Amino acid sequence: MSQREKQPPLRTCAACRERRPQQELIRITASKDGSVAVDTTGKLPGRGAYLCNRAACCGLARKRGSLRRALKCPVPEEIWQDIERIILAGRSD
Ligand SMILES: [Zn+2]
Repeated sequence: MSQREKQPPLRTCAACRERRPQQELIRITASKDGSVAVDTTGKLPGRGAYLCNRAACCGLARKRGSLRRALKCPVPEEIWQDIERIILAGRSD
């Protein structure tokens, strides 16, 4: 199977496991020293994990620890707040 270059790369949400175009997801990174950041530029180095831009996925990832597992390090409270803020800001209603 060959993918056309036009198609955006698909990434898997750590919460619901759906595959979506990268720009529809929020990227969270963990650097080697264990600091977690919300990567709004898409350029931060380190291990990356993705979440849908949906409150449900944020809540699910938090409850199940899926993001912590994907990043292999704990996710600080302020990071969850950042993610929630991004989701709220991105809401269309
Ligand atoms: Zn999701």
